[in-house]
Amino acid sequence: MVDLQAVLDSIYKELAPRIGEGKVADYIPELAKIDPNQFGMAVVTVDGKIYRAGDADVPFSIQSISKVFMLTLALGKVGEGLWKRVGREPSGSAFNSIVQLEHEHGIPRNPFINAGAIAVTDVVMAGHAPREAIGELLRFVRYLADDESVTIDEKVARSETQTGYRNFALANFMRAYKNIDHPVEHVLGVYFHQCALSMSCKQLAKAGLFLAARGSNPMTGHSVVSPKRARRINALMLTCGHYDGSGDFAYHVGLPGKSGVGGGIFAVAPGVASIAAWSPGLNKVGNSQLGAVALEMLAARTGWSVFGD
Ligand code: GLU
Repeated sequence: MVDLQAVLDSIYKELAPRIGEGKVADYIPELAKIDPNQFGMAVVTVDGKIYRAGDADVPFSIQSISKVFMLTLALGKVGEGLWKRVGREPSGSAFNSIVQLEHEHGIPRNPFINAGAIAVTDVVMAGHAPREAIGELLRFVRYLADDESVTIDEKVARSETQTGYRNFALANFMRAYKNIDHPVEHVLGVYFHQCALSMSCKQLAKAGLFLAARGSNPMTGHSVVSPKRARRINALMLTCGHYDGSGDFAYHVGLPGKSGVGGGIFAVAPGVASIAAWSPGLNKVGNSQLGAVALEMLAARTGWSVFGD
């Protein structure tokens, strides 16, 4: 096995002059205030070792990465029945696109674009008041990360509630097709809170470790999902996890992963490690510019790409 700390240190050193590259998401006013000059990385291996570089302990808004945790909860609730509500195909469109919804009668293409994630949230809400659904997710993520200090940033959630016109449009559109069961403002209330989960790279890599380890967290011994379900969630992340940049991420990095507009990227080397990288500046398709470069360097230096070394 390569010296992972040396690999992370070398990536940090080489990228240090580029920290600040990319453009911070400004369509959510609260995210526009983030200092772009930050970069962190954490790797947690399936034997429970943690490696860190840069701002690996600074909490950030995980945004769409939360869709992985909500999907895990929804599959736990309704199993494969979830696929009546949302598809499993890459979208090739922007994260907030509405166009395909009309062609596909209100069924979003996959759970990782906004429309799909909103439908998944609606599924998780069944039988719950919105506040309970938010509590359930927060408890789940704390349990996964084995860290009670994970929080939700209320300011970010509020900021998005005030400006999330497109998400309201997506949810209303799906409700018109009866693919949203709860009042739109309740569903989006939960959705905006899930996106406002605030976690560090270290917490995120720990929380996602079950996906690298056949569904169980080797650090806590908790069994989260079956090996088959972990494999399938990884497959969805590989094909759909980076919006219309998913093909490019597979080409350059070759790992299942999910990005968020807060500048975080979570990735999985199956059987080996879970990884989180964060830098707030985004590239043209809304993925962390430096985060993606860092993961490409990590995959190249470790040989972890699922397509071979
Ligand atoms: N909360 C963001 C939105 O709905 C999430 C976007 C993302 O990270 O892709 O617009």
